[in-house]
Amino acid sequence: MLTDIGVNLSSSRFAGDIEPVLVRAQESNVTKIILTGTSINETEVVIELCETYKTQFPSMLYATAGIHPHEAKSFNTDAITALEDLAKHPSVVAIGETGLDFNRNLSPHKTQEKVFESQIELAITCTLPLFLHERDASKRQLEILRSYQNHLPKAVIHCFTGDKKTLFSYLDLDLYIGITGWICDERRGHDLQNIVKNIPLNRLMVETDAPYLLPRNMPQMPKSRRNEPANLSYVIEGIAAHRAESATTIAENSSATAVAFFNLT
Ligand SMILES: [Zn+2]
Repeated sequence: MLTDIGVNLSSSRFAGDIEPVLVRAQESNVTKIILTGTSINETEVVIELCETYKTQFPSMLYATAGIHPHEAKSFNTDAITALEDLAKHPSVVAIGETGLDFNRNLSPHKTQEKVFESQIELAITCTLPLFLHERDASKRQLEILRSYQNHLPKAVIHCFTGDKKTLFSYLDLDLYIGITGWICDERRGHDLQNIVKNIPLNRLMVETDAPYLLPRNMPQMPKSRRNEPANLSYVIEGIAAHRAESATTIAENSSATAVAFFNLT
């Protein structure tokens, strides 16, 4: 059993063939998938997907409810109320993705920080874990997380690609770490390959971030270049190549960690 903690199933690249994607996931032993909510609208869409497929794929799909830092500029006071309502849906298992992205800078930094803090507070009120994003913003992200340290809910940094110092700072805050196919990339994955062994096994989760980040260790890359949950085992193999445990141990443990973290039933 494998759990993919980050899938963007609402992407237009999945339009029209969601069902075969879920069948292939099932056939590849990926039995639980968390769909990422990145805005109010996308959160509504992923919750709807959970509803649509719950009879055909029982206990397989879950959702996060959040506003991605790229979308922070569209935030207003109505948005947090809307998010609070969406978070009550039984399919919603985390608040996010939320955090800071000072790489693409699609929203002003101050706005990103405000929207991030609102979502941390929402996660505290509704007692849900946080699904975090961070790119080139670890210093501010850590400062903000530390300011909530005494009552910070459980949190996972999804698609971690930072350096060793940042990794240890997140681990010191008791955060969990999500690893994607970035680790399988021989061009830009070196740093991550060198430090992945420092993540305690019980803090490690795995994700495809589909349709993005196709694992480059696949024997045959699909022509579409589209990633999907069925490819999760390549991410696990990419991690196992740089750790002492077998792929099976990583698969079993990362899934058990995710099931407990998100309280997947
Ligand atoms: Zn992200």
